[in-house]
Order: sequence, then C-alpha cells, then structure tokens
Amino acid sequence: MGTHLGMPSVAGRTAASGLLDTHGRQATDMRLSLTDKCNLRCTYCMPAEGLNWLQKDAVLSRAEIVRLVRIGVDLLGIRELRLTGGEPLVRADLLDIIRDIRANHPVLPISMTTNALGLERRAAQLKEAGLSRINVSMDSLHPETFAQLTRRPFLDRVLRGIEAAAAAGLGLIKINAVLMRGINDHEAPDLVEWAVARGFELRFIEQMPLDADHGWTKEGMVTAAEMRALVETRFVLTPDPRTRDGAPAERWEVRSKEAPDVVLGTIGIIASVTEPFCADCRRTRVTAEGRIMSCLFSREETDLRDLLRSDADDDAVAERWRDAMWLKPKAHGMDHTGLGAADFVQPDRSMSAIGG
Ligand code: SAM
Ligand code: SF4
Repeated sequence: MGTHLGMPSVAGRTAASGLLDTHGRQATDMRLSLTDKCNLRCTYCMPAEGLNWLQKDAVLSRAEIVRLVRIGVDLLGIRELRLTGGEPLVRADLLDIIRDIRANHPVLPISMTTNALGLERRAAQLKEAGLSRINVSMDSLHPETFAQLTRRPFLDRVLRGIEAAAAAGLGLIKINAVLMRGINDHEAPDLVEWAVARGFELRFIEQMPLDADHGWTKEGMVTAAEMRALVETRFVLTPDPRTRDGAPAERWEVRSKEAPDVVLGTIGIIASVTEPFCADCRRTRVTAEGRIMSCLFSREETDLRDLLRSDADDDAVAERWRDAMWLKPKAHGMDHTGLGAADFVQPDRSMSAIGG
C-alpha cells in the first residue's frame, strides 16, 4: 500500500484521522452540490433539453446540508467548502444555507462556483450572509459565442453579475473558462487581457468527458499545452513561484511582451486530462441528493441521505463518509494508456449532476 509524501500514513487510520484513502491522501476540501438544476445548457455539460431534475424531497434540505458541513468540519477535518451544482443561485434558500454554515464555522473559507445569472441582485446579500469568494464560469466575451456555448443569450447578465460580485467584495474573483476547439479557443488571449485588467484570476479548464451528450473527443478537446501556446501569442507566461498546495490549477504569471518585468496578473490552467493531479487530490464531493463521490470520475457512490433521515448520530454519518473516501481510486483512468485511454469509461453522471 503506497503513501504519498507528506500525507498521513494509512497505518494510522482512526476515527480522528479524517477522510483518508488507501493511497495516503486526505480530503480536506468539500465540494457540495446544492441542486442539479441549471438555467444554462452549456454544451460540454448539459443536453439542450436539460436533464430529469431530482424531485424536491430527493435533494438535501437546508438543515441536512448544514449538519453535513458541521460533521465534515468538526469530525472529519474539512478545512474548505465550495458550493456548486447545477447552478447554486437557483436554490431559493441559498442565503439561509450560507448564513447557517457561517454561524457554525466563523473562519471556514466558503466559496461558490456559479454561472452568475442573478448574481447582480444577490452579490451583496451573499457577502453579508458569509460567502468568502466566488468563481464565475464564463467562456466567451462575445455574445454570439457565449450563446452558442451555453445555448442562452445571457452574456450581459453574467458580466453585470461579475461586476456586482467585485463591488460586493467577493474577491479574489476567479473566472472559469472551458476552451472548445474552433469555437472560443481563439479568445484565450482576449480573456486573459480582460481578466488581468480587472484583477481577476482566469482559469482555463480542459474539457473533460463529463457531458451528458457524450460528445467529448480527444481531437475536440484543447489541451493545456495548446492553451499556454494560445496565451503566449500575446503574453509571456512564467510559472508562479507560489506552491501549488493541492490546488487543481497550475498557476502562471502573466507579463506583456513589451514590458516583461511587470507581472500583470496570474492565470491558472486546470489540466485534468493531460496533466492529472490525482496524486495530490484533496477533494470529497457531495451530490445534491447526498451521495459521496470520492472522485469526479468515480463509478461508486455512497448515500448519506438515508442516514441523515434516520435516527443515526453524527458519528455514524462520519463513519460512512470516511469509509466512502477510504476507497477513493488512485487516479481517474483517463491517463492509464495516454490521452483518451481505451479502457476509460465515461461515468453515467454528467458534470452538473455531480457538482463540478
Ligand atoms: N453552474 C455553475 C457554473 O457553471 O459555474 C456550477 C456548476 S458547473 C458544473 C462547475 C464548473 O464545471 C464550471 O466552471 C464548468 O465550466 C465546469 N464544467 C462543466 N462541464 C465540464 C466539462 N465537461 N469539462 C470541464 N469542465 C466542465
Ligand atoms: Fe449549468 Fe454550470 Fe453546467 Fe453550464 S456548466 S450547464 S452553467 S451547471
């Protein structure tokens, strides 16, 4: 049984050792999906017609979510929470959920990944409720391309949402962009220019085979190496000297070609497919209906909702969560035999149904 350098030894696994796995990793970063519903239909994530949404009572309630976070933080060593979905802003009790979590955990970093529709109206309230910062997904600065990628003509609303988040103090704002060949890949330098001018950290994400349409192809995806080359047509990129510290994004400092002494900002590149970071993964995922997924590509799911709805105590819930993470796979499998490995099987759940 292998251990990862710097990580706790598997031999010492006890109720107090948190969410360890057999490869010696410890999950401290909780990704919690608040809903499977969404008001966009990004081509790399959802089919045009949407999905069969979960019934309301299938989704974890506000009280169940708040309890689960408390168990994660108090009993299992969770040190960071990211709210996601589906689209977390469509959840009507979002502000109450954040307020309750913040009341229990005054210093826990709580971030949210959102498409920013409706953020303009709610950014200040989110900050007041206790949200620490925000990641906004926006793949294009052109209304037509945005509409092509998301199947909805709402770029202006997203831009207003981002402005409102900055004004409300929900920074450092990170902007997530998936680059798609022949659609928005040529925008890479424009997106970088736009983000660094505003003090945002742009993160390019390699397209993963997690689309409901199963349309992902090796040829279709833009690789991290290509992303760097696209940005370097206008800028100079150098590795960010800060340690990566388990983060999925590899960070790069951005300088202009004319004044290479001045750092304009940083960007991140999330190369889950071509340069996977599984050995350093610290994530544990909870789906909107309360299932633990130890990995985005996991085919195993462990239900916690039935325990939460029984008279089981917190220790029993923690134990099942620990057991689910113990079996976290060593790697997602796309890299077994190289890019687009023949033995890789796309999971049944698409990104929005897991919680990205
Ligand atoms: N709806 C919110 C949003 O879009 O930010 C939160 C959920 S979304 C599933 C989280 C992130 O997953 C987004 O940044 C989105 O771009 C990314 N994503 C979705 N499908 C993806 C795929 N097939 N490959 C890579 N990233 C994907
Ligand atoms: Fe919705 Fe986010 Fe998926 Fe786009 S990426 S369809 S915004 S869940």
